[in-house]
Amino acid sequence: MDMRVGIGHDSHRLTIGSHLNLGGITIPHDRTTIAHSDGDVLLHAVTDAILGALAQGDIGEHFPDTEPAEAGRSSREMLLAVWKRATDQGWRLVNLDCTVILERPRLGPLKAEIREQLAALLGAKPEQISVKAKTAEGVGPVGREEAVEAHCVVLLRKGTDVCDC
Ligand code: MG
Repeated sequence: MDMRVGIGHDSHRLTIGSHLNLGGITIPHDRTTIAHSDGDVLLHAVTDAILGALAQGDIGEHFPDTEPAEAGRSSREMLLAVWKRATDQGWRLVNLDCTVILERPRLGPLKAEIREQLAALLGAKPEQISVKAKTAEGVGPVGREEAVEAHCVVLLRKGTDVCDC
């Protein structure tokens, strides 16, 4: 079976704000990400992981943050465009495993909703998606609430048959 794995990472600085876009949901919060796009660090990491599995560059190449036309761009749109590229080439999702590192708010109660959002965006079942959340235990820029980070790994397989995975 033809399979490909991809790794994704992203981080954004935080500033005073009213909400966080994270994993396709909007979370009311007293800080927000500084970004050229809508700043969804998890969707950016997932997008990069898919591009990595395809060996087709990175998110900055496809959606340059130096382009005024990309300002405020929806991270969902970027992920959907990259996922369409993958599925058009015959790739299907086996699983996606994500970790978000954020000091506040605690994401525990929101993980299920984020998981369902990611599944919906990728046309997958929630069972194929894992969302884990950690704090930095007060250490470093994430611990000081100056930044948020996301990491993920995606596994794709080629084929049109129904996957039981
Ligand atoms: Mg980003």
